[in-house]
Amino acid sequence: MLTMKDIKKIYRTDSIETHALRDFNLQVNEGDFVAVTGPSGSGKTTFLNIAGLLETFEEGRFELDGVDISHQNDAARSRLRNQKIGFVFQSFNLIPDLNLFDNVDVPLRYRGFSRQDRKKRIERNLEMVGLGNRMKHLPAQLSGGQQQRVAIARALAGEPRFLLADEPTGNLDSSMAQSVMALLKDINANGTTIIMVTHDAGLATQANRNIHVSDGKVSEKPMGLSPEASQ
Ligand code: ADP
Ligand code: ADP
Repeated sequence: MLTMKDIKKIYRTDSIETHALRDFNLQVNEGDFVAVTGPSGSGKTTFLNIAGLLETFEEGRFELDGVDISHQNDAARSRLRNQKIGFVFQSFNLIPDLNLFDNVDVPLRYRGFSRQDRKKRIERNLEMVGLGNRMKHLPAQLSGGQQQRVAIARALAGEPRFLLADEPTGNLDSSMAQSVMALLKDINANGTTIIMVTHDAGLATQANRNIHVSDGKVSEKPMGLSPEASQ
């Protein structure tokens, strides 16, 4: 479970202060699939980066599976991140000169799994995303949708409890976007909690919770109502 209470995040550049999050409150439960929408600059990525322990915050309380994050040092946060969090990005972030097998291996190498265990995890996850027969291919030999599937396999190979996705379908055409969404729904049905930032209102309604961020704050949209367009 992930709980944020009155989180405040300020970016300071030169003499300019940007209040990216203010009084940000959210609870995400085990098994949720949360879609996050909101205008550009409203704080969605900031929220995701804090949730993923990539960024710190000024005020408030953030608990991840009962651990109070504000009292953890960098090393402890990094360890927690490696144990619990998988990331997927809009731009896939695959390494171009590594084949699919080696791309999925990258985060596993940080984590001290045995060679044999890594191989099993890589094969299982590439098969899960439908690319078990492409393990020696390079990313450039795949479509965008397939590349995002590799990125998802990489994010899941360490068996994180939370998958955080920032516009995972933003670079895909609508049919590939829908197939990536179908994959994310399967992954969620198998127990991984997902938080996905998206501009696509049609995809957002397929999640089991919708939250809207505006001006650094959350409002929850009840499901079942027609989604307001959120650019
Ligand atoms: P969104 O993801 O909703 O587009 P962001 O979380 O990226 O919004 O940004 C929220 C606000 O914080 C924006 O005003 C943005 O300009 C500012 N911001 C984000 N990252 C930084 C940064 N590294 N330095 C300074 N300001 C930032
Ligand atoms: P450490 O401080 O332990 O070296 P890193 O910041 O290198 O931690 O990131 C550890 C893990 O977090 C990575 O293996 C990766 O899964 C994830 N991660 C962090 N930042 C990024 C990023 N910008 N792109 C992709 N994954 C990231």
